[in-house]
Amino acid sequence: MAIVGGGIAGAWLAYRLAQREVPTVLISTEEHAPATSRQWAFGLVEQRVFDCATAPAAEVFADGSGTQDPGYAPMMAEYFAEEFEELNRLVEYGPFGPYLHPRLAEPGIHMGGGGSVVDAVLARFEKLGGTTIHGRVTDLVVDGDVCLGVRYEHHGVPGRILCTQLVFASGGFCGLFADGVGSNTGYLLGTYARHGGRLASLELFNRFPLGLPDRNRPLYPSDFDGAPRLLRAGERAGELEKALDAYQGDRCDVDVFAHYWTRNLDVPHTVELADGSFRLGPVRGFSMGGMATRLAPTVRNVHATGECAYGLAVDSISGKPFPSFLAKGRMLADALARHSTGVAEADFEAGGAQPGADASLRQEIRHRLDAFQDSRFSLASAEEFARWCRSQRGRRRADGTPDNEDVDLLILAEAYTRSTMARGESRGFFFRPDLPTADHTLDNHVTLAHYDAADDRIHVTLSPRETGAST
Ligand SMILES: Cc1cc2nc3c(=O)[nH]c(=O)nc-3n(C[C@H](O)[C@H](O)[C@H](O)COP(=O)(O)OP(=O)(O)OC[C@H]3O[C@@H](n4cnc5c(N)ncnc54)[C@H](O)[C@@H]3O)c2cc1C
Repeated sequence: MAIVGGGIAGAWLAYRLAQREVPTVLISTEEHAPATSRQWAFGLVEQRVFDCATAPAAEVFADGSGTQDPGYAPMMAEYFAEEFEELNRLVEYGPFGPYLHPRLAEPGIHMGGGGSVVDAVLARFEKLGGTTIHGRVTDLVVDGDVCLGVRYEHHGVPGRILCTQLVFASGGFCGLFADGVGSNTGYLLGTYARHGGRLASLELFNRFPLGLPDRNRPLYPSDFDGAPRLLRAGERAGELEKALDAYQGDRCDVDVFAHYWTRNLDVPHTVELADGSFRLGPVRGFSMGGMATRLAPTVRNVHATGECAYGLAVDSISGKPFPSFLAKGRMLADALARHSTGVAEADFEAGGAQPGADASLRQEIRHRLDAFQDSRFSLASAEEFARWCRSQRGRRRADGTPDNEDVDLLILAEAYTRSTMARGESRGFFFRPDLPTADHTLDNHVTLAHYDAADDRIHVTLSPRETGAST
């Protein structure tokens, strides 16, 4: 069994597999790129998530996005409580308002608290005989509809992992955006698409309504200690304050974005904090779509969990991702343990070490995407960007060099953009100024992006999700 990614999603699955004595290798770039689970997360768990075993799950997992996998709430009801109890044995959790918070060696709530949780889980995984490799996965090796394994590199040295089952837990792609809080660009979603995989609901993003776009972070509770002034064009941002007061419930992030920021994004806002005055605005924190390994399986032994997977889309996201990835890890571990006796179907060459992405390409993608997002969105500029992505792929392939991270990033960026073009409405976390309200005839419709290798094109459909699709 091979798992790509050592955030909370990959770590929890690895731990549960190792307990079942399934030989498991986890590979992660952790030493280079801090995972979202480590860098930012408090590791909080919303207390109300425990209600999902008894109360109607729809109340706990409100989903105005209408794109949530129907298997998601039942999965939470079945597995979450037991998984949390198990996690609580490794890292003790204590109450913190309506949330539970890991009790760590250092007192108080601090960003990055999720990292201590991941470390504790990975330490148990290794103690149970699991193997962790540091490395950057550069490609999949697929034969027909079977994945034989992955290629990776570590400090320029190529390597390969053969496996019978592969699980992506490689995180989200908010690093693709200028206002994203993470550095992970999720290019492996592009790799998966290049090998025939489908990507669902890429257009959906959670946003923290109060953030510092230049510092790529949300405002933290400690920022409010000095009662900071929020300014709109140099004046007190009274309307924003009113919006924050009016929308304090579960859907605060969605409502403040939809009711305030979509009309005010082009007006300069600042916040005065103890260490200076900073640009204020919403920041992207959670990509809600991803690999549709179950919804539209194309490579039969590839699975996905965590932020890189399609499935979880909810209007109120706080304190839910960690719980969701615990439940998903358990569900996958049960299913995968049944396949643990197979042997890898064939060997392959590690190949040469692929260079990492061209940093200037990432910058340019961020810059170009920023130019037509949200209130500036137009179909014409989205189409222009999508064409630019394709032409850049052509340029990179012209000299015959094998596809690499750059090409996969360009596939993902185009797939994201074509997904935003395909959803002809605004819904949940997704907003199009030309179509500001939801079209209820599109309830339960999902976008599915498909890369056609023969003509290097990405096609996106918006169609009713099959009922009964499972997470
Ligand atoms: C500011 C902030 C606060 C949050 N607070 C909470 C909270 O309190 N509670 C909660 O439940 N959720 C919270 N979240 C959300 C939650 O932290 C994330 O959704 C979750 O950590 C994602 O976990 P993951 O394992 O899917 O991905 P990640 O944590 O991003 O891990 C992905 C891993 O994959 C590795 N990887 C990527 N590409 C490759 C590659 N090519 N080769 C090898 N490895 C690769 C990365 O290095 C990384 O280790 C918060 C998010 C933010 C931004």
